[in-house]
Amino acid sequence: MNISLLDFLFPRMCSICKRYGNYICDDCQKLLKRNLPECYICRRLSPSYASHLECKKRYSLDKVFVAWEYSRMSSGILKLYKYKNVQEVSKIISDLFVCAIEKSSFKCNLKDSLLVPVPISTLRKNERGFNQMECIADEVGRKFQLDVKIDLICCRNSSTHQANKNKAERYESKQNPFYIKNSSPNPLLQYKSITIVDDVITTGNTLEKITQIIKIHYGMDTIVNALCMFRGKPYYLSTVLSP
Ligand SMILES: [Zn+2]
Ligand SMILES: [Zn+2]
Repeated sequence: MNISLLDFLFPRMCSICKRYGNYICDDCQKLLKRNLPECYICRRLSPSYASHLECKKRYSLDKVFVAWEYSRMSSGILKLYKYKNVQEVSKIISDLFVCAIEKSSFKCNLKDSLLVPVPISTLRKNERGFNQMECIADEVGRKFQLDVKIDLICCRNSSTHQANKNKAERYESKQNPFYIKNSSPNPLLQYKSITIVDDVITTGNTLEKITQIIKIHYGMDTIVNALCMFRGKPYYLSTVLSP
């Protein structure tokens, strides 16, 4: 698509401050607040990004990197790239994300890791036309020279064909919407770890459901980490920091 048509369809206006120029202007990019390295379970500081041993449960992730604190501005960015299929927007966000990863010590954990974007159901993918996490994972993979496998984890269509399922199948899909095709070769023969790529982490429940599927399928000792873009500030942070 040539630039002028793209500009016509999606005027280059900062999605945050509405100034014309760029989809996310330089000033607003600077306002993105970096998230501190923490244990994603208890949200206390963890310089290596590792989940504390005392916090971990059966299907917890090993290490979770979160680039920025979720804010009003982040929600503007997310809306922009989720609902406007503008390659350029995806590129700006990916570049910022890559830059944040590069500046952190977490990047050492990416060595020999396989990147897996959080999947969306085929139904949602058809509606939206794309899964933005695949674009982000591709950019991260390109930058750090890592393989990306978009179909390792699949996501069930939540409401379709429920009637054709028996009770046990319905229960299983309600418990975990994600699954791995039995025919998938074991990636752990080739990679040291699996790194899930996601946009927003809240409780970590989605990531843990994917981790559960991976560990059941490929072994409990599989290392599963995650790269996430945003997370809300810990609600108890003010009490933790007060003397
Ligand atoms: Zn702006
Ligand atoms: Zn912890």
